Amino acid sequence: MAVVEASNLVREYRMGTETVRALDGASLTLEGGQFVAVVGPSGAGKSTLLHIVGALDTPTSGSIRVDGTDLSGLTDDEASQFRRTRVGFIFQFFNLVPTLTAWENVALPMLLDSKSLRKARPRAVELLERVGLGDRVAHRPAELSGGQMQRVAIARSLMMEPKILLADEPTGNLDSKTGADVLELLAEVAHDEPDRLVLMVTHDGGAAQVCDRVVTVRDGRIDGRHD
Ligand code: ADP
Ligand code: ADP
Repeated sequence: MAVVEASNLVREYRMGTETVRALDGASLTLEGGQFVAVVGPSGAGKSTLLHIVGALDTPTSGSIRVDGTDLSGLTDDEASQFRRTRVGFIFQFFNLVPTLTAWENVALPMLLDSKSLRKARPRAVELLERVGLGDRVAHRPAELSGGQMQRVAIARSLMMEPKILLADEPTGNLDSKTGADVLELLAEVAHDEPDRLVLMVTHDGGAAQVCDRVVTVRDGRIDGRHD
């Protein structure tokens, strides 16, 4: 089953008397086990697409299914629950909590979900080991490099075992060598599980080399084939 099935997405923003069409009939099907880059000029609709896939925004029309859930039918509470438990988010500026240690930052999604508290710490430590930070579990963000902070954020995004990770310019604040290492890690994470999808908006020129597929957004539409 496809992880993302978007059909004919339109997203309009009203700006006074003007209407801006951020998406203008975008269709896209993405299978799991892939690392997919979303590229295109500024203002093309990339962020809008990512926000709709992450249940942060809803389309004006069109249909969107993510991990088997029809997102257009969700209430605000259900959308919030969907984001917290079924999607991992990775940001340009990492969005770590500065007062918490690496493992506490990683464990946070599960602590907020307040279910398996006992499992949170061992799982967070395991994920930090997975991203190469087994020796940094008790460090705070200020004691970590940019690349290490992004690895913590990637570990955090995996905490709830989501099928889909959404990354918005994850290498935008890193030097090119560190950025290349982070792209490599995101590719590994996508390929770790047969049905996991990593979807990344990027301007990183190195992305095409490590991604399984590059999707181009132009004027609110997806260029080329969309399976
Ligand atoms: P990209 O991520 O490719 O740069 P965006 O999805 O951010 O593009 O934006 C697509 C278009 O929609 C742009 O013209 C942008 O100005 C407009 N837009 C995006 N978000 C809003 C908003 N909240 N209100 C009004 N216009 C918006
Ligand atoms: P709510 O307040 O409705 O419960 P949250 O703000 O807790 O929702 O967000 C749930 C998830 O969505 C979090 O993982 C968070 O990182 C992500 N998120 C929230 N707002 C944004 C945003 N503007 N852009 C990207 N991700 C966001």
